[in-house]
Amino acid sequence: MGGGHYANRPELVKKLVMDGPSAIKWLNELGVEFDKAEDGTMITTHGGGTCRKRMHAAADYSGAEIMRTLRDEVLNRRIPVVDFTAAIELILDTDGKAAGAVLQNMETGEIMVPRAKTVVIATGGAGRMHYQGFPTSNHYGATADGLILGYRAGAKLLYQDTLQYHPTGVAFPQQIFGALVTEKVRSMGAKLINSEGEAYIHPLETRDVNAAGVIRECSTNGKGVDTGMGKAVWLDTPMIDKIHGKGTLEKRLPAMLRMYLKYGIDIREVPILIYPTLHYQNGGLEITEDGQTCVENLFVAGEAVGGIHGRNRLMGNSLLDIIVFGRSAGQHAAQKARTTQLKTLTLSHVADYEAQLKDAGIDSDAVSPKLLPTYARGAKAF
Ligand SMILES: Cc1cc2nc3c(=O)[nH]c(=O)nc-3n(C[C@H](O)[C@H](O)[C@H](O)COP(=O)(O)OP(=O)(O)OC[C@H]3O[C@@H](n4cnc5c(N)ncnc54)[C@H](O)[C@@H]3O)c2cc1C
Repeated sequence: MGGGHYANRPELVKKLVMDGPSAIKWLNELGVEFDKAEDGTMITTHGGGTCRKRMHAAADYSGAEIMRTLRDEVLNRRIPVVDFTAAIELILDTDGKAAGAVLQNMETGEIMVPRAKTVVIATGGAGRMHYQGFPTSNHYGATADGLILGYRAGAKLLYQDTLQYHPTGVAFPQQIFGALVTEKVRSMGAKLINSEGEAYIHPLETRDVNAAGVIRECSTNGKGVDTGMGKAVWLDTPMIDKIHGKGTLEKRLPAMLRMYLKYGIDIREVPILIYPTLHYQNGGLEITEDGQTCVENLFVAGEAVGGIHGRNRLMGNSLLDIIVFGRSAGQHAAQKARTTQLKTLTLSHVADYEAQLKDAGIDSDAVSPKLLPTYARGAKAF
């Protein structure tokens, strides 16, 4: 709650905390390879701003490991998936309940209109909007689509002004500029160092504090290191093996080690240069505990939700929240679908929205949702 500046919705935080253990147990039983000690005990790690070790991880690729396991589960259970296809509008029924979506195949342009008794938005974040010109750690699909679709259908938004700039994005080499250097590097002992060799801040302050610290060192304090592309500060990665013993970095941060070795940088031997990167959308669509928005039968889960993390998310809590709230939204949506009777489908909310824009004197030819950033391959196709 403190990390989120006490703007977190208490009932959502309570659910995250109370349902967290069963979510981890569920993933573990499905086959997620969490970090474990020799005796099988789950390893826990500190994140920034935490007073207890609470975070579980699978080396430094927890997200990929969770996706591997869940994707297998979807295939094993023969759950139908429509791939390469984006939702471009939600459909309501004449009672104002969510009733489906307009989908567009991103390869062929074909439009599909599935009816649905309940709808779950799980479209992730918005880093590819590059707010304030920052680079991002996010994938190309992170363009805030779900927020736009939900908002136009009548759902409410929370904390849209609070985006997370992760303090440690890659500042050098240029080829991976903006990629993430996981907070686990700092939680295992690496320090942030300015051009004077000073460890100017506690490395495990919350992300917003540490991001502001890096920017301050590089701007007003004049203690940034020149990378040839801008300023940056050092992250002292060799400390990890010095503190925990040789081989630790390779075992606990293998993906990070590989990423840098591709460019001839051995992070066990030399520190790396970092600068904040746009990482996470703290805000999003407002939900109740069961994951529903104020639009009946419209549910949201994952990074598209606002309120769980207040104004600043702490390390590890997103992969926990997508499982806790994703499972819950799925269960509630399935339950409601049993009793829902759809009326006639309509897109009248889109016409209403356009009329509101006109009344407000807003005249824009911007296409929304944006689906992909304009520089992405194929982005201009639609
Ligand atoms: C590099 C990196 C490392 C991270 N590491 C951690 C970590 O260690 N621990 C942690 O807790 N969090 C971590 N996070 C944050 C966490 O991974 C994300 O917040 C989380 O994956 C969001 O999950 P999601 O399912 O909501 O969205 P996503 O995983 O982004 O999935 C959204 C999906 O929806 C698709 N989509 C988007 N728009 C549409 C549309 N209009 N129609 C149809 N589909 C659409 C996207 O293509 C995507 O496949 C990390 C994030 C990054 C970028």
